[in-house]
Amino acid sequence: MVKAVVGANWGDEGKGKITDMLGQESDIIVRFQGGSNAGHTIINKYGKFALHLLPSGVFYDHTTSVIGNGVALNIPYLFKEIQGIVDRGVPMPKIKVSDRAQILMPYHVLFDQYEEERLGKNSFGSTKSGIAPFYSDKYAKIGFQVSELFDEEALEAKVNRVCEMKNILLEHMYHKPLLDPKEVLATLKEYKTMVEPYVCDVSMFLHDAMKEGKNILLEGQLGALKDPDFGIYPMVTSSSTLAAYGAIGAGIPPYEIKNIITVVKAYSSAVGAGEFVSEIFGEEADELRRRGGDGGEYGATTGRPRRMGWFDAVATRYGCRMQGATEVALTVLDVLGYLDELPVCIGYEIDGVVTKDFPTTVKLAKAKPVYTTLPGWKCDIRGIKKYEDLPENCRKYIEFIEKELEVPVTFVSNGPGRDDIIRK
Ligand code: GDP
Repeated sequence: MVKAVVGANWGDEGKGKITDMLGQESDIIVRFQGGSNAGHTIINKYGKFALHLLPSGVFYDHTTSVIGNGVALNIPYLFKEIQGIVDRGVPMPKIKVSDRAQILMPYHVLFDQYEEERLGKNSFGSTKSGIAPFYSDKYAKIGFQVSELFDEEALEAKVNRVCEMKNILLEHMYHKPLLDPKEVLATLKEYKTMVEPYVCDVSMFLHDAMKEGKNILLEGQLGALKDPDFGIYPMVTSSSTLAAYGAIGAGIPPYEIKNIITVVKAYSSAVGAGEFVSEIFGEEADELRRRGGDGGEYGATTGRPRRMGWFDAVATRYGCRMQGATEVALTVLDVLGYLDELPVCIGYEIDGVVTKDFPTTVKLAKAKPVYTTLPGWKCDIRGIKKYEDLPENCRKYIEFIEKELEVPVTFVSNGPGRDDIIRK
């Protein structure tokens, strides 16, 4: 049985927590896209962790953590992250890395920085983790697949070829120090030694696991609105954030993904630039940011303050549709207990016409939010374990969202901890 946990919004929906929770009943947890550019925050018996590259299942003894072929594999980062959790008392996780995963190189990080610098105020707000240059190279067919580490002769020739191209840009476009092919090759040899014990034909491994009836969980990063095709292009990430891509980024048949648990945040937040219709500002935003998430809404990777907004039913319904959501996990609802009333964006006004359908970016730039207001519940809902025990206005808010999304809400998260969860 294969399930996917993905985001309906701009990321930071709390997927880490939901994955961690579903990890209890999973045998294998797979990262299928993205890299170390977004973080998942997980709180469990070992403490509080911000994971970037490791799947959120690494805290369990019974799970195998898999880095699929769709991931931007930063090898030293992966090992630093493993060491970081082991140093804090977590047992050494079982890890498998796809032989078809491509390697994020140190120069990808540099190119990311140089390009953001060059763009100045028009920059994408990249986390500068090298993700865009990495995926560009993958599709330009000048990336390095893990498997290529094992053919030294061919590797050397390719390194020379790639450096030649990169150095033209470094010299003439960015005016930065050039790459030394010998150094790049030495780096790759070092990576080979590090990654070799974990290399695996992941699609075959998952094929066998499915035959044995194992539970597999695909863990998405970021959210539907950051997808390069269906998100707020060009202010998107560089790999698909959709559950459908889970089939490709892990190497399994699409029809095996039976359950798509789409994580929806009870209000909106976003990092980086891009259209954000229900964004709020000033004291109203500061208060929500301070109270949001677990200890404030600041990026898990960059520490940047997140942009804040009210719940956007237009964007989230679209996000759920593009994910193919079979059920919704609604998170951080506890944060909203301070509000007298809760604005919810239920439409976009574009050139004087109100729509409930999420448009392409050009039209989105002109959209003004149309709000309705629901009454607040004015109390702390943390610690509540049963849906019926939630205050009536809180249930009304959930049920309103459920109706707008046209997908059943099956989990309500009312706190950052593993047990702060209500099954509806
Ligand atoms: P992810 O990238 O989707 O995994 O999301 P993040 O981990 O970046 O952001 C979620 C933040 O909210 C983290 O700090 C979590 O600990 C926290 N969090 C998750 N669920 C809840 C919840 O229901 N209530 C509160 N207050 N915090 C939560």
